[in-house]
Amino acid sequence: MGTVVSFINQKGGVAKTTTAINVSAQWAKEGKKILLIDLDPQSSATRAIFGDQDFENTIYDVLTGELEARDAVVSSESFGIDVIPSEIMLSGIEIILASKFGRESILKRALAEIKDQYDIIVIDCSPSLGLLTVNALIASKDIVIPICPEYFSLKGIDLILETLKHIHTGLGHKIDVRGIIISKYRSRKIVEKVISDLRTNYTIPVFNNYIPESIVVEEAHHRHLPMLHYSPKNPAGMALANLAAEMWS
Ligand code: ADP
Ligand code: MG
Repeated sequence: MGTVVSFINQKGGVAKTTTAINVSAQWAKEGKKILLIDLDPQSSATRAIFGDQDFENTIYDVLTGELEARDAVVSSESFGIDVIPSEIMLSGIEIILASKFGRESILKRALAEIKDQYDIIVIDCSPSLGLLTVNALIASKDIVIPICPEYFSLKGIDLILETLKHIHTGLGHKIDVRGIIISKYRSRKIVEKVISDLRTNYTIPVFNNYIPESIVVEEAHHRHLPMLHYSPKNPAGMALANLAAEMWS
């Protein structure tokens, strides 16, 4: 029976996409069947995995109801995972979904027919807490929150927790926060202070494997490869592999 986990943060550039695609590839390497859904109109995950390749069928068509989810699935050999790609048209979907019946659970219903074919469905969210992300939350059992450890990131976490509370009380869906992922980590006094504040002031766990900042991560995106193929011995590559094990072993 498949489970669904969303990578969420309304802030952009905190490594949602980077952690989602690399952790997915690592899980796949260990024998899990993975479906990654790119739910960001910017399509970073789709571009990082497939480059400039165009797709006729995307998550947009699934959400508008014109396509079954299974007909939007494409496979990535280098990542070893299935993907439902995104496209820029997705940026206009919230207004279309807004008038639909059960608008918060459209993605959940669309995934019902293929959920059992996968061990884990990973959703890479857009930097917003709008209707698209609410659909990801309603479809998810768990979320993880990637952050760059800086002072303002704590405020952002409060907003996510507030949203989860509204979804629990308003829509009756309880979501587990599996943990916070520290990304682009550099050992600095102020960074350690933010992480220690996180650990003491919040009940949510912080994953122990921090992802160090490394230009190699960016290079891997350009080569359309997961770190486990591009540079497995790089400290960021090793941290991503260890994080995958820490999240799901
Ligand atoms: P998000 O999905 O939250 O917007 P991304 O995963 O797209 O964030 O990352 C934003 C940028 O930061 C990308 O250019 C990515 O290559 C870069 N990046 C992510 N993680 C690291 C890292 N550990 N070291 C260096 N650059 C990183
Ligand atoms: Mg992203």
